[in-house]
Amino acid sequence: MSKKAEEIEALYEQYVMPTYSPAVLLVNGTGDCVHGADGMTYYDLTSGIATLACGHCHPDVTAAIEAQAKTIAHTSNLYYNEKMATLAQALGRLSGGYKSFFTNSGAEANENMVKIARLWGRESGRYEVITFNKSFHGRTLAMCAATAQAKIQQGFDPLPTGFAYADFNDLESVKAAISEKTVAVMIEPIQGEGGVIEANNDFLKALADLCKEKNLLLLMDEIQTGMGRTGTMFAWEQTPVKPDMFTLAKSLGGGLPLGAVLARPDLADLLKPGMLGTTFGGNPCACAAGQAVIDVIEREGLLERAKVAGAALREGLEALMDSYPQVMEVRGRGLLLGMVVEGAAKEIVDKCRDFGVLCCTAGEHVVRFLPPLNITDSHLEEALDIIGEAFDELFNA
Ligand SMILES: *Cc1c(COP(=O)(O)O)cnc(C)c1O
Repeated sequence: MSKKAEEIEALYEQYVMPTYSPAVLLVNGTGDCVHGADGMTYYDLTSGIATLACGHCHPDVTAAIEAQAKTIAHTSNLYYNEKMATLAQALGRLSGGYKSFFTNSGAEANENMVKIARLWGRESGRYEVITFNKSFHGRTLAMCAATAQAKIQQGFDPLPTGFAYADFNDLESVKAAISEKTVAVMIEPIQGEGGVIEANNDFLKALADLCKEKNLLLLMDEIQTGMGRTGTMFAWEQTPVKPDMFTLAKSLGGGLPLGAVLARPDLADLLKPGMLGTTFGGNPCACAAGQAVIDVIEREGLLERAKVAGAALREGLEALMDSYPQVMEVRGRGLLLGMVVEGAAKEIVDKCRDFGVLCCTAGEHVVRFLPPLNITDSHLEEALDIIGEAFDELFNA
């Protein structure tokens, strides 16, 4: 470890709450590469956990943030903010007329989506939201309750009430979870953190029909799948359904903290001034970055790129299945891919990092790959070679 990294680690030890166990000290990044204080260059197949659709320090995103920081960095929501207006306009165009409420994080976006659903359900006395086992919706208390995973909830009870759980891709279990209190169903089109598990289209269609029949809202959490990651701007575009509301965060802000709830106008218009609020949400710098992200995705053809690069990455990972019985399956869509392995995914993640590739886990047995959408062919190839070397050392020694 470099001297600098040792110093930083000591500061963490003394002053930072031990909520993570960070691996290396990253000092800068360009495109699909980051550099460590250890002198290593890493191919970044995590892109800041799916936040950097355009890669590290894309010149257009950096320029937009810089220009805005020099003009007016923050306004609060007591005043009009041009960058919020134009980003909402762009999201309105992309979503077919939905209205936006901006937040600072994914969890905060989901919280507010649930609040709007409850507002809509008030007249009929309904408030409960059905979520799915292995879901991930964030770390606030209410979103811990929405996240149906024991490891997220343990130690923090009593959790807020108002959530019921069903099994993913299982319509009967959704039916069984519906009560006279149910107001909505919230689902990730692909469960990310839970293990990169796709909702199948037949299930989604049946779920949307069920929601219509029972007068429930269909809510989608597109925090990880949104902003082009699966090959369309939003993952729901590749399904037979359109949610009544959905959330974005992660890649929306190009590396700055930004989330959004997008809602059908009739739902959005249930709100009156003062009902929802946030001091920083929709901050001009974050919204300027968000606009730049959308412009780059469109101008550089990154939706198509996510499909093409995703197919290449999948093929490379699937090739490992031939040589290594430890690899059970490769799944996901576009550049949200998961490799299901027999043993601990973390061991593979650690070894890949030692060799120069950053990837992350999605649960205990899934290695997750989330490269920037503009990863180059040559870097993708080199990253796959490195992953191959890591596998060789791990399993052929
Ligand atoms: C990351 C994530 C969240 C939480 O977002 P934060 O910004 O960490 O609060 C919620 N839902 C999904 C699907 C996510 O991937």
